[in-house]
Amino acid sequence: MDLINQTALQTARLIREKSATSREVTQAYLDRIQLTDAAIGSFVNVDAESALAIADSVDQQILRGQTLSPLAGVPIALKDNLCTTSGVTSCASKILSNFRSPYDATVVTKLRDASLVVVGKTNMDEFAMGSSTENSSFFTTKNPWNFEMAPGGSSGGSAACVAAQQAPLSLGSDTGGSIRQPASLCGICGFKPTYGRVSRYGLVAFASSLDQIGPFANNCEDLAALLQIIAGHDARDSTSIPSSVPNFSSEIQEPIKDLRIGILPELINSDNIESSTRENLLAAIDVFKANGAKIIEVALPYAKYGIPTYYVIACSEASSNLSRYSGVHYGYRSTDRSNRDSADALVDMICNSRSEGFGAEVKRRIMLGTYALSAGYYDAYYLKALQLRRLIGNDFATAFNSVDIILGPTTPSVAFKLGAKSTDPISLYLEDLFTVGANLAGLPALSIPSGFTKDGLPTAIQMQGAAMQDSLVLQCGHWFQKWIGYQPTWPKL
Ligand code: GLN
Repeated sequence: MDLINQTALQTARLIREKSATSREVTQAYLDRIQLTDAAIGSFVNVDAESALAIADSVDQQILRGQTLSPLAGVPIALKDNLCTTSGVTSCASKILSNFRSPYDATVVTKLRDASLVVVGKTNMDEFAMGSSTENSSFFTTKNPWNFEMAPGGSSGGSAACVAAQQAPLSLGSDTGGSIRQPASLCGICGFKPTYGRVSRYGLVAFASSLDQIGPFANNCEDLAALLQIIAGHDARDSTSIPSSVPNFSSEIQEPIKDLRIGILPELINSDNIESSTRENLLAAIDVFKANGAKIIEVALPYAKYGIPTYYVIACSEASSNLSRYSGVHYGYRSTDRSNRDSADALVDMICNSRSEGFGAEVKRRIMLGTYALSAGYYDAYYLKALQLRRLIGNDFATAFNSVDIILGPTTPSVAFKLGAKSTDPISLYLEDLFTVGANLAGLPALSIPSGFTKDGLPTAIQMQGAAMQDSLVLQCGHWFQKWIGYQPTWPKL
């Protein structure tokens, strides 16, 4: 049996029904990683020994007849900004390259309780700042569909590993698009839950009011099953939503009735969208129409301010969050002692540790954020951005009075060449044009494949819903995949 050509839920079923062991499945994925990862570079660390030990214990629990979670025994990869007590949590930064977390992130504890098998940690843009994974201070991850292309980012490793069948599931984080954009460029499914749905405890903070952890998978049923495991209130995250978690897996199976799909004609017709992305989006709209959905034009007038608003807020929060990396408490400390005997030795040590430990993009954002927050500029930049954030949120709220879902493209372009945007930060920031709105407004948003370009690169559609409508968004994604008879296609590796 081909163990890696299964969905995550099918794999779990095979394991539960004893048609395969979790060890066999885990070994099959580890072999695949061994075979393919030198070329792709999804992983910063693979822990085969600990993965096989978890797999064995799941197999024993099954032999003992224990009832396990719907994804028990299934391998999963974690973005390396999720704290794990085993191994290093590096955020792909030199400053944390030896950091060992004293605690597990809440999502990691939940995965363990649900008997998933963590196979390793994935590459990312340093501190999740970027859209191509080229800002990793370790190495660049390649897009499995074409090794000359970027996998997107910042969760590029988590997206590439699912696209390359190195793991059927992974977790990423999304501050401005970092789950949806790489899912789109790698031809897989990625979901950013409503802000507060999933605990951020143990997610290394980038921009705390925007960050949210979410799943990657090959289809929406697997996404819902994984979200089921990681969602829920957590007293350790003060922004976590104190309400019960719906049964996503069963709710997405409910037939869809009277669906109202919102579209943004101005956006669909703009020159900002690559042509196959547009064609495949129009085809997707037709699929919804053919299945009884009403298509309604909506407007988000303030969306055009999304990118500047996002970058002012994200950089401001980052400049504050990243002040903890001083070489004193965490990670890398400069060994430069040239000024050892001076009264300024401590300041020099902190300065050298930060100068040597952070990469260029992280420094750029700390400086931009510090500037936006400084006296005299605070009102002009940070406060203005907060006001726009509210107006952008209001736009969505108005739109969701008349529609259930807003359907559009995930990204303006398909996968781009590695290096093509790395010298021009603004062109890379524009990758987030369609994704930052959901973060600023705290909304659930899904990216799923919509087809391919003539050159064989994946295109995607995005579905955004009102806050707490995670089930509805996933349900629309699931039914879309059902209607088109979606079967994942795999890159030839
Ligand atoms: N690409 C965006 C940025 O660079 C989003 C990153 C993210 O969502 N972590 O900030």
